[in-house]
Amino acid sequence: MDKKILIGIGSNIGNGIKNCMAAIKKISSDKRVNLKVISSFYTTSPVSEIKQDDFINCAVLVSWEGTPHELLQFLTGIENSMGRTREIKDGPRIIDLDILLFGDRVLDEPSLTIPHKELHKRKFSLMPCLEIDPNFIIPTYKRPLNDFLPEIGDDQVVTKLEGIVFLEESEE
Ligand code: AMP
Repeated sequence: MDKKILIGIGSNIGNGIKNCMAAIKKISSDKRVNLKVISSFYTTSPVSEIKQDDFINCAVLVSWEGTPHELLQFLTGIENSMGRTREIKDGPRIIDLDILLFGDRVLDEPSLTIPHKELHKRKFSLMPCLEIDPNFIIPTYKRPLNDFLPEIGDDQVVTKLEGIVFLEESEE
């Protein structure tokens, strides 16, 4: 059976929805990827000491023909191609792509930690994933995603965007 691979997507520079959609398009156009589910989009308050705009976040479920390191390299390439810079840690970003879960794989390396260390602590990562499947197990805890939401404080504001999304103003 395919591994359940969840990728977290976020943006808080420019048009966040458009940036997330562009990243999803780039992810899905690679032949190693099979895009299975796209979560709703959320507006989320930044979890950072640095003052910055709210984010748009979502998550996708994919299958991937390759290793976790190859997936990270692929996602970093997309971030770079979209103009991602890394001058300020935890600062604003045009696009952020994180591997949140890679099936039951566990990796703890400086360049790649799987499951993502913050998945269960951040509402902006967890809520889109819960929408995809609340029963996915975080292998390091052997507990389902669903378990963790009540453990997160109320200071993180995450609001699901309702309705259809216009990427361009209609011309009338
Ligand atoms: P950031 O883009 O600020 O979220 O951090 C990117 C850095 O985190 C990259 O240099 C990665 O090597 C590292 N990293 C560690 N674990 C992960 C993961 N699960 N997904 C994405 N990046 C990761």
